[in-house]
Amino acid sequence: MTAGPVLVVEGLTKRFPLEQPPLRRLRDWWRGRPPPVLTALQDVSFTVGARETLGILGESGSGKSTLARVLMGLYQPEAGRAFLLGEDLFTNDPKVRHHHRRRMQMVFQDPFGSLDPRMSIRRILAEPLAIHRPCPEAEWEGLMGRGLEEVGLDRDALDRYPAEFSGGQRQRISICRALILDPVLLIADEAVSALDVSVQAQILELLMRLKEGRGLSLIFISHDVAVVRQVADRVLVLYKGVIVESLPASCLLEDATHPYTQRLLGAALYLRENREFSAWEGSASQKPRSEPRPEGCPCQSWCDVAEARCGQPPPEVEVHPGHRVRCWRGG
Ligand code: SF4
Repeated sequence: MTAGPVLVVEGLTKRFPLEQPPLRRLRDWWRGRPPPVLTALQDVSFTVGARETLGILGESGSGKSTLARVLMGLYQPEAGRAFLLGEDLFTNDPKVRHHHRRRMQMVFQDPFGSLDPRMSIRRILAEPLAIHRPCPEAEWEGLMGRGLEEVGLDRDALDRYPAEFSGGQRQRISICRALILDPVLLIADEAVSALDVSVQAQILELLMRLKEGRGLSLIFISHDVAVVRQVADRVLVLYKGVIVESLPASCLLEDATHPYTQRLLGAALYLRENREFSAWEGSASQKPRSEPRPEGCPCQSWCDVAEARCGQPPPEVEVHPGHRVRCWRGG
């Protein structure tokens, strides 16, 4: 394993064109206005160290899943670079991209939707092996059986179908599929959000055990403050596609200084079972509209301590070593 970072991301920006009624589109074109865009990620930079768990925390719409999909090559970024073990992740060389896809795998949120119900578990697990061919075909059966046992399932699961398993078991199968190619980096995108609390704990424990046992690096994406704090070494807080704070997970509750992070922490107190998590729960402030993005700090429409200078993009300030905040008020 490399001594340097496993993943380096620099200045990642991703925009999506916004739908518009035809008449407005025509009017904008006539007036020479550029088509409107949604900036899902704005100048995002971070690293993931060897064997590190990096938590990415934010509400839905903050850009967390877009970030995962850009890294997995499902979306093309408008700007920025990323390096996996020092190699360009966004290279145009299809062979190198193919190689990257093997070394970086993802576990999705929905254990029901991410497994094709028409395919047996054998076919589901054999698919990545058939694409990447990490070993001779004669070895696949043993590899799949050992993989299932590693995630706590019996080998006879190979002949069964996803519908025969519970949500937690399906997520174990998804994890097995992600690990069967022996990646160096695993991205877990809301991987326990769809599960009951007791099953969540089992899957988290499994992920942590596998991460330690295999020496993996992990990007753990979640809206859940408690879960991220439990599993992560370091946390990035994402708001409207901007990293507003990064700090060690152990300092999250006591030392977080950014107004948005403090809102997230405060809102966690209001978290109710079966209700969507929101940083605006119990708050007198209105939840901000997703568009248009204001000039300067994206938080200024609701921030209680906003100042005139917040109309300009805030600087990133180092509060302590390892703790950075993007705010004009600093730490
Ligand atoms: S830069 Fe200004 S608006 Fe943004 S979080 Fe800091 S104080 Fe609030």
